[in-house]
Amino acid sequence: MDEKEIDLLRDRAFVEIDLENLDNNIEEIEKILQPKTKIMAVVKANAYGHDISIISKHLQDKGILDFAVATVEEGIKLRKNGIKGNILILGYTDFKNLHYVIEYDLIQTIVDYNYSKIIENMTFNGKIKAHIKINTGMNRIGEKPENIDKIIAIFENKNLDVIGVFGHLSACDSNSEDDVEYTRKKIALFQNCVAVLKSKGYDFKAHLQSSYGLLNYNELNLDYARIGIIMYGIDNSKDSYSKIKLNLKPVLTLKARITSIREIAKNDSVGYGRVYIAKEKRIIASVSIGYADGLPRNLQGKGAFVKINDDYAPIIGRICMDQIMIDITDIKNVKVGDFVVLIGEEEKISAVAMAFKIDTITNELLSRLGDRLPRIIKQNNN
Ligand SMILES: *Cc1c(COP(=O)(O)O)cnc(C)c1O
Repeated sequence: MDEKEIDLLRDRAFVEIDLENLDNNIEEIEKILQPKTKIMAVVKANAYGHDISIISKHLQDKGILDFAVATVEEGIKLRKNGIKGNILILGYTDFKNLHYVIEYDLIQTIVDYNYSKIIENMTFNGKIKAHIKINTGMNRIGEKPENIDKIIAIFENKNLDVIGVFGHLSACDSNSEDDVEYTRKKIALFQNCVAVLKSKGYDFKAHLQSSYGLLNYNELNLDYARIGIIMYGIDNSKDSYSKIKLNLKPVLTLKARITSIREIAKNDSVGYGRVYIAKEKRIIASVSIGYADGLPRNLQGKGAFVKINDDYAPIIGRICMDQIMIDITDIKNVKVGDFVVLIGEEEKISAVAMAFKIDTITNELLSRLGDRLPRIIKQNNN
């Protein structure tokens, strides 16, 4: 990319991707994997807002061979971007679109026995590679681990090439006694199911842990850990428990430009609905980012900051579709064209802090960052 192109991408607001931090996180995660366990990189939802193509290509260059997406379209996108390894679609694909799974050499999750039965009565140009979902307590998709006969019937489906079996834990980020006991029970059911299937001669990969499953139950010696949020270098919330603490670094920074600076008088209001009224003379600046970019509108009134130079300026008034206003009265040397940081490494502007303010998890906050934000790889000059 030449300078002119970069200038255009940085025109108003953008996401900066730090691949060195991604490398750091992969190394940290690899330290706690059991010898046979490999990372399955979860890159669904545009790699949690980070850019599915940038993240996947970099991971592939670093030797990661296994990827997970949510939809068949995301899988096709990876193939078109030159990803060669295994690509598991974690969710349902409609019957009419299953031929893409074969054409693009993807792996389909079999959401339950009924799904498999319908597939068995269809005609395909080859076998569909598949992992069977086991219901380990989410009660979302999956076949019960006790239903061994049904699971075997899925293995025997003539249209499927079953190469994996997996579950998903619903409370692995909690250390309450209740949740730990529940999780241990579900782990035991899953492992028993795997053992029975192996004893019947089936050969397949087994996996159960997501990020917090790995951090809190890393003793499980399974084939994969499906890692999303911690690979991107952040906790999913302030409340999540992790027994193992890794030195993670956030991969994503969200930046936008100062576009206009003005002085307002006592009792002047700022923005829609006049929810902010100045108590005294203030200097305020407009910044070119808004809720259409995924900056949550309900951040208003929650004490959110942006970082500017080495200071923090509060967001004031309502968040607009394309712009916000900040109070820069106490900050020196701010000029039009400067960048502010909305989400970054420092605690005060971290994704975890922002998610906490609006009562959600970082996974939601980041995956909703909009298409309008260009994703730019950070140039590390060292
Ligand atoms: C999204 C997802 C993951 C990744 O979860 P993280 O908590 O982000 O690591 C793993 N497994 C399944 C089935 C998922 O849907």
